[in-house]
Amino acid sequence: MSHDKNTAAAPAPASNFLRGIIDADLAAGTHAHTGLPPVITRFPPEPNGYLHVGHAKSICLNFGLARDYQGRCHLRFDDTNPTKEEQEYVDTIIDSVSWLGFSWGEHLHYASDYFEQLYRMAEYLIEAGHAYVDSQTAEQIAATRGNFSTPGTNSPYRERPAAESLQLFREMRAGKYADGQLVLRAKISADAMAAPNMNMRDPVIYRIRHAHHHRTGDGWCIYPMYDYTHPISDALEGITHSICTLEFQDHRPFYDWLLERLVEGGFFPQPVPRQYEFARLNLTYVVTSKRKLRQLVDDGIVTGWDDPRMPTIVGLRRRGYTPEAIQLFCERIGVSKADGWIDYSVLEGALRDDLDPKAARGIAVLRPLKLIIENFPAGEAIDCTAPVHPHQPERGLKHFPITREVWIEQEDFMEVPSKGYFRLYPPIDGQPGARVRLKYGFVVECTGYEKDADGKVVAVRCQYFADSKSGTDGANNYKVKGVIHWVSATAALAAEVRLYDRLFTDPQPDAGGKDFTSVLNPNALETITAYLEPGLATAQGDERFQFERHGYFVADRVDSQPGKPVFNRITTLKDSWGK
Ligand code: ATP
Ligand code: MG
Repeated sequence: MSHDKNTAAAPAPASNFLRGIIDADLAAGTHAHTGLPPVITRFPPEPNGYLHVGHAKSICLNFGLARDYQGRCHLRFDDTNPTKEEQEYVDTIIDSVSWLGFSWGEHLHYASDYFEQLYRMAEYLIEAGHAYVDSQTAEQIAATRGNFSTPGTNSPYRERPAAESLQLFREMRAGKYADGQLVLRAKISADAMAAPNMNMRDPVIYRIRHAHHHRTGDGWCIYPMYDYTHPISDALEGITHSICTLEFQDHRPFYDWLLERLVEGGFFPQPVPRQYEFARLNLTYVVTSKRKLRQLVDDGIVTGWDDPRMPTIVGLRRRGYTPEAIQLFCERIGVSKADGWIDYSVLEGALRDDLDPKAARGIAVLRPLKLIIENFPAGEAIDCTAPVHPHQPERGLKHFPITREVWIEQEDFMEVPSKGYFRLYPPIDGQPGARVRLKYGFVVECTGYEKDADGKVVAVRCQYFADSKSGTDGANNYKVKGVIHWVSATAALAAEVRLYDRLFTDPQPDAGGKDFTSVLNPNALETITAYLEPGLATAQGDERFQFERHGYFVADRVDSQPGKPVFNRITTLKDSWGK
């Protein structure tokens, strides 16, 4: 991974409405006089959980725009809520954004670094008559806010003299009051409490919280609200385009109001940052609410935030997703202002397209059935070879032995073949058994099979043709319709393989208030012991393969041991859902 500025390899940028806005700003020279890059964006996570695939969309968008316009993107922690935030989350977020392939250079910021400036600006707003300290309780404030159809009513403290509010605000900071006793509210206009936009009804901008903050310790007992902190942080950092999801559209009037007041107060020059909204990612078969993801972890439904079934960045990473696949996915889904659902197969498609040229091929028998080659001497082995990658001969050949007993897939044998079945079946009604090629090996003809007391097929018997080996002239003398994969029973690596699938059976697991825990997919994880091509023993954690006919797999980055890898199925070769 590169650590240069915003360096993720750029897929060709697709046009979108944000690029249109930026292009217009560039043409108009909106930010030309600042001496800073023309495009400065930011990704502003709250450190109260792990990042998920929805955040990836925002990350790819913000860092991608900065990269494509030779600007920069800041990583800013919006850490204004001391009771929910922790260093653990800061660390994982930093790790996830850089793993995704992006770099913020020296622009790692924390809203908590601005507490002093935020406080001073609040004092200014009080002095200028744009804010007041309210002595009502939280219940009273909620009750007098009104609702969509009813205007709110003014607080009895709204006309409190600025000097009195200022003194109370200073006392709030000094720790004189208990949590909830006083708040600082914006005073937007004479009739603000009747504003159709509820966010403009004298929003609370500071509250008292006697709580330890993960960065500022016990330095503060008043904390600024998100709607107050965010525009100011953007302005302090010189953000040009403050891009967020649609639910913040109704917050934009306050964003603009606040920055206008602070321009008047001489705190910021024009142009101030502008907020633009885009539609969040909704991905089928996935929940992205942090609260719900936490519930999956806390209730033990998954093994942790990095469980390979989780849509978190750490989960996708452990599952075997590459940063490039996630970037490709974000590029493909595009950016718009219209809410909608993206099908999970789009994510899997991006993974397949990214891994197909990269992943070495491997052979794995997942549901083993013994095949005994009757005319192959016990104890002997013949070397077979296969390309590491079928379209990249320069990656060379790998070697593995064929022996008298090999493992094949159970589905590659039928006692009574169905119509059009070209794999193994026994001699029937005087007709010889089926002939198939053991891929990269020999042609065999089925001679019989064995069952156990329960009637289960436990072994298949065959004869091989010694002159039919793949890659030799003799191979052409044998015409077969079926080709199956196999591994030597004596040389195979027995390995734990985790067959992961979607976590939910419902494409919209939490839509309309549905209980997402009632639509869990019972088959989201099946753990098996599979027989693998012996060379896979050296697979390193995070190394990805295409197991022929089965899909893409990765050596688990946590549980693999040297010489003893554990594999996760990332995705099958084809989409089998929605059929
Ligand atoms: P919650 O799940 O609690 O609502 P959040 O997703 O809003 O949390 P933040 O840390 O505030 O969490 O998000 C950081 C940024 O990621 C925000 O700018 C937010 O708009 C964006 N974001 C969050 N979810 C999505 C999503 N599904 N699609 C696109 N962007 C998202
Ligand atoms: Mg949020």
